[in-house]
Formats: sequence, C-alpha cells, structure tokens
Amino acid sequence: MQRTNISCLAASAAMFCLAVSSSAAGGDSIVPAAQFAGTTLAQAPNLPPQQGPATQFLPLRAAPASTEWSGQPGASGHPEMTVEAIQVAAANFKTCLEGLWPHAARRGISRGSFDTHAKGLTPELKIMDLIDAQPEFTKSVWDYLDILVNDDRIAKGRETLNTHRVIFDEVEKAYGIDRHVIAAIWGIESNFSTAIGERSVLRSTATLACVGRRKNYFRDEFLAALEILHRGDLRPEQLMGSWAGAVGPTQFMPTPFQRFAIDFDGDGRRDVVDSIPDLVASTANNLKQDGWASGQTWGYEVVVPRNFNFLLADRSRQMTLHEWERLGIRRASGAAFPRPNERAYLLIPAGSQGPGFLMLQNFRVIMKYNPAEAYALAIGHLADRIRGGGALVQPWPRHERVLTLAERYELQQLLAQRGFKVGEHDGRFGPITRAALRDFQAASGLVPDGFASSSVLARLRGQ
Ligand code: CA
Repeated sequence: MQRTNISCLAASAAMFCLAVSSSAAGGDSIVPAAQFAGTTLAQAPNLPPQQGPATQFLPLRAAPASTEWSGQPGASGHPEMTVEAIQVAAANFKTCLEGLWPHAARRGISRGSFDTHAKGLTPELKIMDLIDAQPEFTKSVWDYLDILVNDDRIAKGRETLNTHRVIFDEVEKAYGIDRHVIAAIWGIESNFSTAIGERSVLRSTATLACVGRRKNYFRDEFLAALEILHRGDLRPEQLMGSWAGAVGPTQFMPTPFQRFAIDFDGDGRRDVVDSIPDLVASTANNLKQDGWASGQTWGYEVVVPRNFNFLLADRSRQMTLHEWERLGIRRASGAAFPRPNERAYLLIPAGSQGPGFLMLQNFRVIMKYNPAEAYALAIGHLADRIRGGGALVQPWPRHERVLTLAERYELQQLLAQRGFKVGEHDGRFGPITRAALRDFQAASGLVPDGFASSSVLARLRGQ
C-alpha cells in the first residue's frame, strides 16, 4: 500500500523511529504507532523520501507534551520549517486552501462539498513539532519485534480470523492474499482496531498541505481526503487518524485509499473504517496491486555460516534460494525450501551476530505498505505466529546497545570524513549509510555486516 505511511509507528501520533542500526530501510523508518500512543518515545513520521538540506547536529529538544505548537523551528533545518516561515504560512492558510479549489474541481469535487469540508478549517501547528521530531533513542530490531509480536497480539489475531472467518474466506478467494498477513497488518497498525488516531485527517492534511516542508506531498493527500468525503465513502467523523493522515484500522493514507479501497459488502461506500469486509478486502487489494505473489510466503529465517561474505547481504543482490543454499545458507528450522527457484535477498538486521533472513517478493510488497525493514519483518513474523509457527530460532545480540541520535550523527560524519559516501547526514541509517559502513568494515578487516554497533563507532573514533 504505499501508504507511505507516515503513519506507522506512526499511526497516530506515536511512531517511533526505528532509525536503527539495523533497520536501515529506506530513508525514513517507521513503525506502526498507533498502539504506542502515550509512550514517552519521541515519534518520527514515516514520511516518504524527502529532499532538503541535510540535518546536521541540530540541538535536540524534548518532544513537547502540550497540544500547542512549541513555537520552535523544526529540527530538520528546512527553510520552510523556520518559525517565521511557519507563521507566514499559517497566516496565509485560508488563501492557500482556496488556491487548492481548482485542483479539487478537477477531481470532480463540487463547490458545495469543498465549502462544507474545507472552508472552516484552521491549521494545527502542533503538527510542525511532530513532523520534525527525531527520537534521541531508538529501538533495536529485537525490542521492536518483542513489542509488536507478542502472545496477546498473536491470540487476538487468531480470534479475529475466527470471528470473521467467512469474510476472510471470501477475500482470500477473491484476492489471493494470505489471511494471516492481513491479520498481522491489522494487528500491528491498530492492535485490531483498538488504537486508531484521533485527529481529523482533513485538518491534518490541510495543515501539512499549506505549512511546512512537505506541502507537495500533502496537497495530494488533502485533495484525496476531500474526494473521499465528497464521494461519501467515509463520513467526516470517520476520517480520523494520525497526524500524518493515515486512517482506519489498517491505516490507509488518502491517496492509496483512492487507488485501492474496495466496497466489498456492496453498500455503495468504500468504508475501510467500520466495515470489516471493506477493510479486509481493501487491504488485500492493496497488497495484490503492489505485486503480491499468491501462494508464496514473505521470507525465511536462515542460518548464515561463519566466514560468509557479508557483502552479499544487500537488497540489490537477488539470487534463487537454491543459489543461496550453495553458498552454505540453511533454513533455521532445518526444513528444505519448498520452492527453491524463488528469488530472495539476504537481510541480516542485527549484523553477523544475529539471525539472517532470505526475503522474497512478498517482503518487498509489505515494505511498500511501510518502507521499514523492521516493520515488514514484524508483519511477516506475526503472520507466521498467528498461523501457528514458532518463535525465531536464533538469538539476537541483546547485549548490543543501540546508538543514540548524537552517536548516529557522529558515525555518519566520521564515515564521511574518511571518504565514505553516507548520503544525507540525518542520523538515520538507510541503505547508503549501511553500504558505507560495510565498506569501512571491510577496509578495516572487520566483518562487513553493516551493523552500527558501539564497537564500530569506537573504531571509527580511532579508539
Ligand atoms: Ca461498503
């Protein structure tokens, strides 16, 4: 669902960024967040890749607890996030919204609908604090999995499948998507509808369309939200969600909603909030349209031999499961790969000391839903557990400490000083930073697993 979820851990106000050493998904890693609302973790939005000046050693602020805007500039340092730019844009909010009317008209939205839903809106500047929030401490991939994949969520997943068995039967038949994966998405995005954001998605997307550094992206989301209301798919009181605009138990952003939502119960409305048939079918359709391979799983936990060439553990290196086997990789369960000709890449989220995973096409599809590897791993693993599968076989390196934000900035800077390309100095470790780290490790005689441990940082410091 390319719901570029700004929502994820996000879903609501709460995502925390798994910026982690290990996650390293695309630029912004996120985590489903609705269910974390109320935690003290700072939350980082799962925003689509962004352009703009690099963030460098900006002063850290505690996330404000108030519902009011802090009146502080955004930590991104983006020119649209200065106090003055935010104030000017807020003062111009009505004019900005009216400027969107021609775009709305082109989408078939009536003037009446536009006035009804958009005219009385005011900006919620608090969102300017949230969009640039960057947690000083992030979670390790194992802590993340511990939180998201637990006995309670597994039990609720089974109960949900049981309660709605007929619907899941029909949806699985119509779309060919494994019901356990849909249940896992539902469970992780909103803890089975028990944690859904409480902000008006229309107000949030209108604010972000007119104020701050992501206007272009959110203009489309705002217009799509208006279109949803104009068509009557959702009523305004249903269009509630995260500050970043994701709505419903599986957290659809308005644009993916427009593309993927299905009226499966046939009442004329695509209601992904209160109709279970529509919710389940829409989520399935999203995965199907994103390229889900029916009858296949998402990936396998594998044992990587000692002295393996870890430079092969890269998303760009796809080989068949059979070819990986020839390099010495085995399923952790000891079973054979049922379809050895499927192509996979090797992911080692915690480096050479933790479990390996061979990731198939469907893992990439889950990552379109939310572009963080740790998120997709949690979905896949929770799906397996709901189905009756066991816990991961291999231990995580729980003694490893996750680097703080200041240390992540420092690590990127030290790599850059040594001539390695780290991409944006943003304290987040995406594929570019991870590749740079691997190159440094290889050049230093270390195992090149791309894992940002405190010992690698010490090595970079020359200690
Ligand atoms: Ca319906």
